[in-house]
Amino acid sequence: MKEIILIKNGELALKGLNRSSFEDKLVKNIRRRLKSIGDFDYKKSQSTIMIEPKNEDTDLDEVVEAISKIFGIACFSRAAAIKKDMQEIMPATVEYLKDELSLASTFKVNAKRSDKTFELKSPQICEELGGYILDHFPNLSVDVHNPEIIVTVEIRDNYAYIRGGQIKGAGGMPVGTGGRAAVLISGGIDSPVASYMMAKRGIELTAIHFASPPYTSERAELKVVQLLQQVSKYSGRMSMLVVPFTQIQEQIKDNCPEELFTLIMRRAMMRTANIIAQKQNCAALITGESVGQVASQTISALACTDAVAQMPVFRPLIGMDKDEIVAISRKIETFDISIQPYEDCCTVFTPKHPKLKPSIEELEKAEELIPLDSLIEKAIEEVKIIPIFANKE
Ligand code: ATP
Ligand code: MG
Repeated sequence: MKEIILIKNGELALKGLNRSSFEDKLVKNIRRRLKSIGDFDYKKSQSTIMIEPKNEDTDLDEVVEAISKIFGIACFSRAAAIKKDMQEIMPATVEYLKDELSLASTFKVNAKRSDKTFELKSPQICEELGGYILDHFPNLSVDVHNPEIIVTVEIRDNYAYIRGGQIKGAGGMPVGTGGRAAVLISGGIDSPVASYMMAKRGIELTAIHFASPPYTSERAELKVVQLLQQVSKYSGRMSMLVVPFTQIQEQIKDNCPEELFTLIMRRAMMRTANIIAQKQNCAALITGESVGQVASQTISALACTDAVAQMPVFRPLIGMDKDEIVAISRKIETFDISIQPYEDCCTVFTPKHPKLKPSIEELEKAEELIPLDSLIEKAIEEVKIIPIFANKE
């Protein structure tokens, strides 16, 4: 039986944006994501996006899995394409939806007929097909107001399409419709979740990671690559820019007051990320910070890092508990990667007593003790770029 994926316009999570550019972007994102799974025909007609495998043995479960992570789709369905003949449609419906129908107790048939030459009108299709289903499933009765399953038959140009229950999509906006931002990504639990949340709003990501070899290992960097590969199943492909941060950290450690160390380092990260983001055409920065989580995330500490950014800093986790963040990281399957024990550069030189209410003036004064601008410039010259794809892209 030929099976396809149907995404209805009403099922696009569309709000306010220009509908056709939204749809074009969505189709482009779907195409790119499905390229490694098989060859497909894409059709946009009558407010529907149809995705049809060119090859009968394409694994549609894999397609559904991939599509359910693409932002911009509230829900979608798989459908069987059947010859436009009631004698074929009726047994095919029973066969195609047998698992769903045998578990339910109520249903209704919903018929749509865009091919007006079809032998029956919509109410007759409902009646005949409904009767046929009742004959085959003694567990079922018809409930037109609140059915457990709606069996939809659409008679279109080439085929009759049959579908049952909807599959929940990832929601959000198609990635790329919201501009581009740079996410500061560590190997922790939070920043992958922050990346996912901003991608969901249609933002295309560039990732910036600070590494401090030999204090941080190659394995720690690989962990970040793995995290981003998982995130990219939702966000689409991106570049990961690895910034060598060892010299900056060592200079801060050797020359600045220990209690300010973490904040000076975080401001150095922010300054560096800001310059890289501008070069990469990003209009905002993203971090995984949440108020009060650690000493460097008090309101005044956040104000100190904000002060060196020249673009908006988005912190989608700002008001969330760790439990809530963990729940999302489990859902998007980054959690198990995040908890692998590899050192992040932030944890390498942590002061015993970080200052909780630092002033920007004292930080600026301490920063004058090191040649920060030239250190940052040098680090940016040595940035390594790693392309990130969803595993099979
Ligand atoms: P996470 O789980 O994201 O590591 P965290 O609770 O460990 O968060 P911090 O280590 O204080 O928090 O880092 C706060 C934020 O700073 C991170 O969410 C991330 O956006 C950024 N960050 C921290 N370390 C790095 C790094 N090595 N490279 C890039 N960004 C980083
Ligand atoms: Mg961290």
